[in-house]
Amino acid sequence: MRVLATAVLLLGSVAGVRAELIHCREPSDARRVQEALARLRAAVDPCGESAEITAVLDVLAACRSARYEIRVSADAERNVFDRPNNPNRVRTIVWNPELRTDLEPACDAAPAAVHREPTASLLHELVHAAHDCTGLDPGQRELEAVRIENIYRRAAGLAQRAGYGEQALPTTMRRTCEPGACSCGIPNTRALPVVAAPLQARATDAVADGDISVR
Ligand SMILES: [Zn+2]
Repeated sequence: MRVLATAVLLLGSVAGVRAELIHCREPSDARRVQEALARLRAAVDPCGESAEITAVLDVLAACRSARYEIRVSADAERNVFDRPNNPNRVRTIVWNPELRTDLEPACDAAPAAVHREPTASLLHELVHAAHDCTGLDPGQRELEAVRIENIYRRAAGLAQRAGYGEQALPTTMRRTCEPGACSCGIPNTRALPVVAAPLQARATDAVADGDISVR
C-alpha cells in the first residue's frame, strides 16, 4: 500500500502527554488527526459508555511497551493497524480521513446501509492499538473494537455496526440506540475495561512479511 505518510502522531511514551506530534510534513493532516482525537475525547454516549473511549486514549497515552503512530493516507482503501513482529518497531495506524465506504449493506433487517465514518474508524484502530499495548492480540478482538466504535457512533448520532464481517455482535455487546430511536435515556454506568475477556472471534489478521495488519 502506498501511504502518503503526511502526518505522524506519536501516542504515548511521554509521561503526561496525550498525543505528541513528532513529525509533520502536512500540517493540515496533523490537524485532522488532532481534531478527530478531540472529537473522541468530547463524545457523549447516550448510553453512558463514553468513558470507555477516553480509556482507550489514556491507555495509549500512558503506553510504555510500544510506540504508536497515526499516518494519514488519502488513498488507503481500508484503515489498518499494522503491528510488526519486532516489538521495537513502531506500530502504525493508517487512517484515511475521507473513507466513507459501505461497511454493512442494507438488508431486510437493516434497511439503511452502515458506512465508514472517519472518526469512528480511527477509534476502531485505536482500540486495536490499546489492546496491543496491554499485551492482547488485536486480531482476536475485532468485535470488541466494533463495540467501542459503536460508542462513538451513538454519540455522533450514527447507525451502529451490527458486527464484523460474518461475526455478529452478541446481545451483551449491543445497545438499542439508533438515530431517532435510542432507548438509552438513562446513562448506563457499566463500563467494560479495555482489556475485556477474550472473545471467540475469528482471526482476521492479514499476515505479510511477518507483520500483522488488523482492520
Ligand atoms: Zn478491526
